[in-house]
Amino acid sequence: MRVSVAVIGAGPAGAAAAIECLRLGCGPVLVLEKTETDRRKSCGGGISPAAMGQLERLGLWDKISAKAQMVDSLLVKGPAGGWFQLGGPVEAAVMDRLEFDRLLRRALVRHGAELKRGIAVESLEQASGGWRLGCSDGGTLHARFVVLACGASSPLRGKYTRRRGSRLIGASALFDGVEFMARRVEMYFHPELNPHYAWLFPLPDGRANLGMCFMPNRGKKVLPNDIHRMLTFCLGDRLAGA
Ligand SMILES: Cc1cc2nc3c(=O)[nH]c(=O)nc-3n(C[C@H](O)[C@H](O)[C@H](O)COP(=O)(O)OP(=O)(O)OC[C@H]3O[C@@H](n4cnc5c(N)ncnc54)[C@H](O)[C@@H]3O)c2cc1C
Repeated sequence: MRVSVAVIGAGPAGAAAAIECLRLGCGPVLVLEKTETDRRKSCGGGISPAAMGQLERLGLWDKISAKAQMVDSLLVKGPAGGWFQLGGPVEAAVMDRLEFDRLLRRALVRHGAELKRGIAVESLEQASGGWRLGCSDGGTLHARFVVLACGASSPLRGKYTRRRGSRLIGASALFDGVEFMARRVEMYFHPELNPHYAWLFPLPDGRANLGMCFMPNRGKKVLPNDIHRMLTFCLGDRLAGA
């Protein structure tokens, strides 16, 4: 099979790249996604003003904003209980990540890309006038251009780009019964999570996304107890009524 553009990965980067390639008239675009079904990635679901601008430019913002909670203030808490709050005219948004990824995938198909799921790209080789891709179903594919959009932790990234894969440990879930302010994002900082943090991000349906992430020290084993301890320290109060 031959295509003009093969996009590896149907996350936000892959979806945006596929849509942009089609808008630029780059020819047939095939998106290969290794997962067969949708899953909720560990994520706060926060959409920054810059990301909102990109979604607007791609013509996707109307559909996304209909399912998002707009936010305009931020509560920051430190490990000793100190806090401050910021607010202002700038708005960001929060949305269920599962829904966000689904909307983007639907959009790439609507724009004319072909999406093949359940196929992982395992190898990439330069071939005449493009690239040969080796796929997990045993097939090969020839593409003039390849967009690697397989995420930060994919081995392909370390193998075929100068950027090495990174390992971030994250835990997040959507909760009912948590008290929060609808237009306020909350961030909880702690030295063990630094430079990352724990969060409470409000969703439009009265639920909230609570979670945390951190980059473990190289070679250090992270035990479930460590994660539980940090979650309890940062978000225990917020989860009490959930
Ligand atoms: C805990 C946590 C919380 C976060 N919270 C936020 C937030 O609130 N707001 C925000 O903007 N960002 C957040 N992020 C970052 C955000 O998740 C990433 O920036 C975003 O997912 C990157 O999108 P992507 O398309 O590059 O990669 P991914 O979303 O990782 O998508 C890559 C896709 O490629 C597929 N794939 C991988 N390898 C292959 C292969 N070999 N062949 C075919 N398919 C393949 C994967 O299945 C996946 O679907 C968070 C990240 C973490 C870890």
